[in-house]
Amino acid sequence: MTTVFTHALVPLALGAALDRRMVSGRLLVAGAVCGVLPDADVLSLQFAVARGSLLSHRGFTHSLGFACLLGVLAAVLAPQLRARRGAAFGFVFLSTLSHPLLDMLTNGGSGVALGFPFSSERVFFSWRPILVAPISAARFFSERGWRVLQSELVWVGLPLAGLALLIWLWRRGRSPAPDTSIS
Ligand SMILES: [Zn+2]
Repeated sequence: MTTVFTHALVPLALGAALDRRMVSGRLLVAGAVCGVLPDADVLSLQFAVARGSLLSHRGFTHSLGFACLLGVLAAVLAPQLRARRGAAFGFVFLSTLSHPLLDMLTNGGSGVALGFPFSSERVFFSWRPILVAPISAARFFSERGWRVLQSELVWVGLPLAGLALLIWLWRRGRSPAPDTSIS
């Protein structure tokens, strides 16, 4: 897994760069929660769930199907999220999907069942520069945890900041110039 901070950071950075009329504050928070939610499957480690099964870590909750499910739920709850249904679906779908995509860039753990329900194969990207984060919190607050955060800052934080800046500049370029004429 990537750390919880980085998984929440992706939707927060993208949402913050987009128009508030498209991504409301509530939708932004929902996206951040959904960016982290797939790792709730670590609870399966407390139960006798077979390793590599869909209910094990990086299984169903790390799939296109799960991202779609949360997107549909967000579209249903769009009035409560103060967003249009299409925007609610798209933002929550992408926020959730960013999680397994980031995990596929990590250099450890099991592969990700990204293609479910079309495929149950566990996959990684062939290029995996991000150090995998320890699951246990005790091990996270260690020398290794610090190295993981540095790795995520370089490979996720910096590209994300660049992307958010580009979206913001693009939006600024599209917004009409303020009317300074005197009538
Ligand atoms: Zn994960």
